[in-house]
Amino acid sequence: SVKESGKGDFHFYDQRFYDALRVRINQELELRQSIEQDQFVIHYQPRLDLATGVTSSMEALVRWDHPTQGLISPLEFIPLAEESTLILGIGELVIDKVCAQLAQWGTTGQSLVPVSINVSPRQFNEVNVPKLLSSALARHRIAASLVEIELTESLMMAESPDVSSALTAIRRMGIKLLVDDFGTGYSSLSQLQRLDFDVLKVDRAFTSEIERTERGKVFFKAIITMAHALGMRVVAEGVENEKQLDILRTLHCDEIQGFYISAPLPPGDTQPVLTQGSLPAK
Ligand code: C2E
Ligand code: MG
Ligand code: MG
Ligand code: MG
Repeated sequence: SVKESGKGDFHFYDQRFYDALRVRINQELELRQSIEQDQFVIHYQPRLDLATGVTSSMEALVRWDHPTQGLISPLEFIPLAEESTLILGIGELVIDKVCAQLAQWGTTGQSLVPVSINVSPRQFNEVNVPKLLSSALARHRIAASLVEIELTESLMMAESPDVSSALTAIRRMGIKLLVDDFGTGYSSLSQLQRLDFDVLKVDRAFTSEIERTERGKVFFKAIITMAHALGMRVVAEGVENEKQLDILRTLHCDEIQGFYISAPLPPGDTQPVLTQGSLPAK
């Protein structure tokens, strides 16, 4: 660091700073162009209903189809996009793409299940999300019941009256609200007490713990008991093996999602998990 090293290193430090800044500005420029040129694709990851063995819903996960680098994970560009208004453009694109895809699946007579869309806190603070959703649904002639919204706990942290009235409006439209990555944010319990959610998606950190320790299992069971008492269904995220699935069954978890069931799939590959279910054959 600058403190430890001699004066001569200041130049080096500045250079690194400006290099990082240049990379950052380039990334932002590229991301801006990617929105104008619509370089995004959506993959769909099924959620399996443990009681029936059928796919109950799919999660829309965006990928940047970069002209030279191929598919880029949202973990690499969503955080950057969230630091500027770029997330608003991407968020709008994702909603539009999902509705267009649902309409296309509908007209080609393919099986349909609801699709959940991840919405960033920043979208709620800066645009009218209920209006964005209702106009996309109308434009593509899609029933509101085919769309669900996933929200991270950080959003709920912001105790803004505007955010909670937007959430209420979305729910009144018949769109389900899901808590995403439950257990990783702060203040989750008090927020759950205040707001109505339909589904609690428990973060994969808790899923991986159930097969490791008795404590992990007891903990997951307590989350399920609480969620059920509040009228919510529970989804375990990040299920990666049969042992986890079996334990989740004994805990009366409602649904599971994870690589053991299916990775996120390109839209053309989703039909088999909808018609045959997504439970792996034993
Ligand atoms: P998320 O909403 O919690 O989505 C689940 C992530 O976990 C996905 O990563 C998924 O591929 C991955 N995953 C699923 N099953 C497993 C498993 O069994 N094991 C492991 N290790 N991972 C699993 P992905 O697609 O890279 O997305 C990362 C995050 O990016 C998402 O986390 C979500 O927060 C964000 N994201 C994705 N699409 C959008 C979007 O359209 N809008 C916004 N605002 N955020 C998005
Ligand atoms: Mg999600
Ligand atoms: Mg999640
Ligand atoms: Mg996550």
